[in-house]
Amino acid sequence: MDPQKNKLFVLRNRINEADDIATFKFMPVKGKNLPFIAGQFVNVYFLDNRCGGQGKPYSISSIPSDKFLSITVKKIGKFSGALHDLKIGERVKITEPQGYFCPENQMKNIVFLAGGIGITPFYSVIKDYFSKKADKNLFLFYGNKTKKDAVFLKELSDLAKSWERLKIINAFTREPILPSDKKCVTISMNVKNEFKRIDVKMLKKHLKNLNNKHYFICGSIGFVTDLWKELKENQIKEDYIRVESFY
Ligand SMILES: Cc1cc2nc3c(=O)[nH]c(=O)nc-3n(C[C@H](O)[C@H](O)[C@H](O)COP(=O)(O)OP(=O)(O)OC[C@H]3O[C@@H](n4cnc5c(N)ncnc54)[C@H](O)[C@@H]3O)c2cc1C
Repeated sequence: MDPQKNKLFVLRNRINEADDIATFKFMPVKGKNLPFIAGQFVNVYFLDNRCGGQGKPYSISSIPSDKFLSITVKKIGKFSGALHDLKIGERVKITEPQGYFCPENQMKNIVFLAGGIGITPFYSVIKDYFSKKADKNLFLFYGNKTKKDAVFLKELSDLAKSWERLKIINAFTREPILPSDKKCVTISMNVKNEFKRIDVKMLKKHLKNLNNKHYFICGSIGFVTDLWKELKENQIKEDYIRVESFY
């Protein structure tokens, strides 16, 4: 990593999104925010020897036109725990945005498959497209154990209500409040809730057919591998599938 490309940021705000998930809003200490493409990630470093001087990657959950840069972090281990302990006003180093997990201009029909915290890059891409009223058809399949675990549920639902090009299928696997028949529930015209894990059968049901679509899969290694395999078994060519696993 080139230290010249690091920039100092200060934590300005923190939003608790779920029990163990928070959004951290950073502002550059000097100058402008880092330019990035929605879908990219940054590496975050503490200024002291916390976490042995090692940095970790986090997808950017804000959009390029925002004044701040935000990441949304699930507390699961040492580094994410230290981020959750960060105080407002503390500084961190953030590297130049990286990664190619960004849909290309010519992609018109895009299917996002998010497992839990794997929603972060898609949240940025969807908000960015919404702000530009992009000429795209977006489908988001968002898997979580329960509604309580699912971050940005309301924000995404509100976007889908006011933008007919975005369709959302939430998939809850352990939601305690289930409809008696566990059948798909329509929340609004563009938002539906399913009560099982995301699989190709679910995709076929809501997409009608799997062809002529670009698939982006993000989440744990297990989530990404399972769905990638299922899509391949259903004759989706590798060129049409992009993945990012949070390890
Ligand atoms: C491109 C990219 C983008 C990412 N974006 C995001 C994002 O937007 N949001 C996000 O939250 N994460 C994201 N991640 C994941 C993030 O980089 C970290 O990997 C994550 O926060 C976990 O780091 P940690 O140090 O807190 O956990 P670690 O300490 O590395 O722990 C990881 C796992 O190991 C287990 N573990 C830890 N210590 C032990 C032990 N002693 N014995 C047994 N098990 C143990 C933990 O329970 C946990 O399940 C992204 C990763 C990549 C590659």
